[in-house]
Order: sequence, then structure tokens, then C-alpha cells
Amino acid sequence: MKKPFIAGNWKMFKTVSEAVSLVQTIKAGVSHKTDCDIVVCPPFTALSAVSKTLEDSSIDLGAQNMHFESEGAFTGEVSPLMLKDVRCRYVVLGHSERRQHFKEDDALINKKVKTAVKYSLVPILCIGETLAERESRQFFEVVKKQFDESLQGLTGEDVSKIVLAYEPVWAIGTGQTATPEQAEQMHSYVRRLLNEKYGNEIASRVPILYGGSVKPDNIGQLMRKPNVDGALVGGASLKAETFTQIIVNAAEACKAEVHS
Ligand code: PEP
Repeated sequence: MKKPFIAGNWKMFKTVSEAVSLVQTIKAGVSHKTDCDIVVCPPFTALSAVSKTLEDSSIDLGAQNMHFESEGAFTGEVSPLMLKDVRCRYVVLGHSERRQHFKEDDALINKKVKTAVKYSLVPILCIGETLAERESRQFFEVVKKQFDESLQGLTGEDVSKIVLAYEPVWAIGTGQTATPEQAEQMHSYVRRLLNEKYGNEIASRVPILYGGSVKPDNIGQLMRKPNVDGALVGGASLKAETFTQIIVNAAEACKAEVHS
């Protein structure tokens, strides 16, 4: 049975006390859930406090970004060692908001992915096309370029340790979700790219998450698609009830698939 992987990206929301309160409620709501991998990605300032709150929990901690050097004169940046120090297991890399507002390109993202793997942090690597790229039917090409360039120089063993997230930019924070069919079409394409480059075993092991306006009422349909392994959730992860409901619905959809 597929075990859903649900990650919450809190973006630039939540003070330390708000973050702790949110994670305490999520923790209470999913304490019995062993049939789902759950990750929360608070802002940097809240990582330490959230980490302490998660000490007796199976929920994992992720960061939303990092620098590719382990330390140095890089004012305003946060290193992989600092993330390890607060017990982060995951780091979101290449999010479209980083690409769009901070001009991160695939070469920079590639350096970050390599560093994350080197320091045993699991990158949640985001790829996905803009609305213009979808409308001009370039979406496969765009995603292939992001895939190839962000993973350049990584071995199959390295790639077996990462998580991919297909996030069509036009669906992020817009309330407009890709249909389950559109998501599956891209996920199966990405799975094929993995297969061609790294072989079937690795291709079947790498989780491919969908991200873009995921809500409790659309997660079930998405999870029923064979190549959708979970979700990267933005807005709906900021409220404990909706995030918890997404987790519950994702796990139920996977169970129902086995029994149908
Ligand atoms: C995201 O931030 O990665 C995301 C998918 O946001 P939202 O769920 O709000 O569309």
C-alpha cells in the first residue's frame, strides 16, 4: 500500500509562539497516524522551538531553503549545518517563489541539492511550469530542463535519497488545482525521466509530491493516481484542522485503493 507523504510549507507565516501552537495542535490531531509520512516546514526563526515540540513525535521537520556552503561570510543566509543542528531532516529547494522572487536558477538549485545530500538532509526539490509555459504547451520541456539541470552530477544513489515535488506555478496559492489527470500526466512523465536516467528501482523509490492549492476535498482524488505519492501543501497547512484533514483523507484514499 502507498504511504502518503504530506509536507506543509508555512512560507513566511507564523511567529515562534504561533508556530509552536500550530504544531502542537497538528501533533495532537495526527498522534495515531503511522500510515503517513508528515513533515512541517516552518520559517527559520521557528525551527528550533518547533523541533523541541516535535521531540516525542513522528512528524519530521523541514526548512524552506538553505545556502549551499556549510559556513562563511554570507550575511542573511542559513547553512545545512545549522539546519542539522536544529534536527531538520528535510529542506525545500527550488520552490517557485525562490525562483521567481529571488532569481534562483537551476545551477544554484543544483549546488544546494548536492550540499543537502552531502549533509544527509533530504531535499524536497520543486519543479513545475508557469501558466504561460503551460498555455504554450512547453510544460514537459520546462520540467525536463529543471529536472536535468537541478540533478546534474548526482549519482543514482544520491537521487534515491531525494523527494520531488511537481508544483505547477499557476496552481500555487491561486485556488486553481491541476486536475488529478493533469497531475498524473506530469508525475508519470517525471517517473519516466527518473527511470531512463537512474533505472527502475530508483524511479519507483523516489516520492513525487503534487503541490498547488491542495485542500482536504481534492487530496483524495489526487492520491488515487498511481504516480502521486503525496503533497506539498502551502496555504492549507497553516491551519491545523485543514492540514490534519488532508493527512487523514490522503491515508484513507490509499487504503480505499488497496480494497477496491
Ligand atoms: C506551496 O507553497 O508549495 C504551495 C503548493 O502552496 P499552496 O498549497 O498554497 O498552493
